[in-house]
Amino acid sequence: MQRYISQLNEAQQLPVLQKDGPMIIIAGAGSGKTRVLTMRIAYLMSQGVDAFNILALTFTNKAAREMKKRIADIVGSNEAKNLWMGTFHSVFARILRSESDKLGFPSNFTIYDTQDSVRLISAIIKEMQLDKEVYKPKQVLGRISSYKNSLITVKAYFNNPELQEQDAMSKKPRLGEVYANYVDRCFKAGAMDFDDLLLKTNELLNRFPDVLAKYQDRFRYIMVDEYQDTNHSQYLIVRALSDRFQNICVVGDDAQSIYAFRGANINNILNFQKDYDHVKTYRLEQNYRSTKNIVEAANSIIDKNKTKLDKVVWTANDFGPKVKVHRSITDGEEGRFVAGEIFEQKMRNQLRNNQFAILYRTNAQSRAMEDALRKRDIPYRIYGGLSFYQRKEIKDILCYLRLVINPKDEEALIRVINYPHRGIGETTVEKLTIAANHYKRSIFEVMEHIEKIDLKLNSGTKQKLQDFVTMIKSFQIINETQDAYYLTDHVAKKTGLIQELKKDGTPEGIARIENIEVLMGGIKDFIEGQKEIDGARGALSEFLEDVALATDLDNDTGDDDRVALMTIHLAKGLEFPYVFVVGMEEDLFPSAMSLNTRSELEEERRLFYVALTRAEHQAYLTYAQSRYRWGKLTDSEPSRFIEEIESSYLEYINVGGPERYQYKPMMDIDIFGDVDKSKLRLSKPIAGTPPKKYGDEPISAVNIRKLKPMSSKAPSQEASNLFDSKLTVGNIVMHERFGKGEVMSLEGVGSDKKAEIRFEVGGIKKLLLKFAKLQVI
Ligand code: ATP
Ligand code: MG
Repeated sequence: MQRYISQLNEAQQLPVLQKDGPMIIIAGAGSGKTRVLTMRIAYLMSQGVDAFNILALTFTNKAAREMKKRIADIVGSNEAKNLWMGTFHSVFARILRSESDKLGFPSNFTIYDTQDSVRLISAIIKEMQLDKEVYKPKQVLGRISSYKNSLITVKAYFNNPELQEQDAMSKKPRLGEVYANYVDRCFKAGAMDFDDLLLKTNELLNRFPDVLAKYQDRFRYIMVDEYQDTNHSQYLIVRALSDRFQNICVVGDDAQSIYAFRGANINNILNFQKDYDHVKTYRLEQNYRSTKNIVEAANSIIDKNKTKLDKVVWTANDFGPKVKVHRSITDGEEGRFVAGEIFEQKMRNQLRNNQFAILYRTNAQSRAMEDALRKRDIPYRIYGGLSFYQRKEIKDILCYLRLVINPKDEEALIRVINYPHRGIGETTVEKLTIAANHYKRSIFEVMEHIEKIDLKLNSGTKQKLQDFVTMIKSFQIINETQDAYYLTDHVAKKTGLIQELKKDGTPEGIARIENIEVLMGGIKDFIEGQKEIDGARGALSEFLEDVALATDLDNDTGDDDRVALMTIHLAKGLEFPYVFVVGMEEDLFPSAMSLNTRSELEEERRLFYVALTRAEHQAYLTYAQSRYRWGKLTDSEPSRFIEEIESSYLEYINVGGPERYQYKPMMDIDIFGDVDKSKLRLSKPIAGTPPKKYGDEPISAVNIRKLKPMSSKAPSQEASNLFDSKLTVGNIVMHERFGKGEVMSLEGVGSDKKAEIRFEVGGIKKLLLKFAKLQVI
């Protein structure tokens, strides 16, 4: 253990070695907070603390898995496997399953994903005959979600005239009723949504002192990563569980609080000292992740925020290259620049695709990037779009499996009752829904008793409903004796799903069948993994729970060699050698929706801080002067955040294409004397722009558009120096990254010419000479 502790710096060692008592570690990005948390768990175990008594809450399940792996390396995997680690949702879903009867839920309750919740809310809005343009389902769900996360139950809502008034003011006087119906329907279906997992946990711990005592006793040591982004509901759970032993260690960075829009409360971190007695506060200052240029650029950004804790972040790492700023005329050109740069960097420095990340403010921005990467044949992966488990064919089959586990699950039932087509029409489903609401039963229960209820259905339809019930029950019987793999295979065939997909001979249809095969593979892996866990429960229900809470980040094994594309929100806690932050434009980043208040703008700035601090070696900021948004071409100005960075950390680079000649200035400030002041923000030189690069005039938001095309050569030409030269076998060459080496062989001609070089450090590498920037010595 000592060996591992000595790998930490002194400031990092202190919180690791403090075994008991409440403590908070507040520190900037990349300073080793997550590493300290990991080490602390290993240390506790080395001090005799039982893994059963340790709970660690992380931002993603992937982070938890990685932590566990590292701990297992130190203390042994047998010891580590009993640790409770995961996201709030996954940990408390597990607890709720074993205590669900107290809350009146079955232990096999379904977890509704956002799709299910939105569908159910739409149905309720329709049943209540409300205008769905006013009661927009997603918005309504957002509102309900924020109530739940603030622990405002339906009852509390109706006791609070202020909230009702607020909703009435926003033209939704019946929101409370929608909320009540939604809660009721979820309950009837034996289902909880994501927010329920936290809300119900709070309810459980509040209403049942013995249950609280049990888990307080169990989780004697609690650790929370990314504490700055906990919401009120999560805060209360942690507070309650840690109340008895007060062995609580939270880590976070107020400068990285980016989920206020989803109810995260930065006060949780700011008030921690008040919540516990004798809190020890630790600060870490040394950043190990990034170069000096990146760390300092990020510091200079966050400095602009007024609301913040004073923190120092420095690094002993190299200066590294400056943060590169790139302007393009269109978003298409921006994509081409990013893809081209990745291609060149890979060639020049022999990098893998997964050393690059492209981060954006909104998911819609990924398209231009995807197009460009595809044209260059660069493999990529988009995170945070539709997850694998939400793809139609996958969700269809999962919904059958959900019904096997919990036949009351209405969203699952409605999805598959007539898919594949079996002649059960919409009117029938409507009648069933009305009857279910009337009898306060689930649709499945109504179907089971269809003979006794007069729904005016013809006998053919009744038979079809009974057949469906019989089919699901037959699956349940199989589930009692067979594993999840066998059952899924059986379900896919027996329901006709596979045949349905096979009928569709298109490439998409074939891809869907392949996806089902991937799912089957996943189930197999899951069953294998389960065998290693003590006391694992029925594989199918556990698998479904994993699936319900999986984000596609969780499925990432890390071996995949692809460029990562994701929103900045999702990138929290991650790191990549090369990071492109794209779409650095006003109204996009900062988002147009955040410009009303200082606190919203500060949250955007923290988001930018998160983005920049993901980079280890090189960060790029790119912006386009025009972009397709909402279906039309809109002009845009560079983001104020670029200007806010200390100029000495930036380098402006540009590539020219024919498009730049076509660009027309959209506004000429000299003509319009009376211009909106905010538009003048950039009329001083952009910090750090070396004027001579662009000509003699100072660069401004206005005249930046009037610039003459640059005469500089494209980088690919600049980089080409030796590919047409007389490099021969035996030459000793110098490479900017690999150092000295000897040319072993040459192949190809012209721009395809490659050399095999044996470097003194790093061994033999094959490099494309066009990009290799070799010097013969
Ligand atoms: P974030 O705020 O982004 O979540 P963090 O504070 O959690 O960052 P870590 O992810 O724990 O930081 O650490 C950042 C990087 O620095 C990791 O690659 C980690 O392995 C490395 N690191 C941390 N501490 C040390 C150390 N003492 N020596 C060497 N490397 C370290
Ligand atoms: Mg971290």
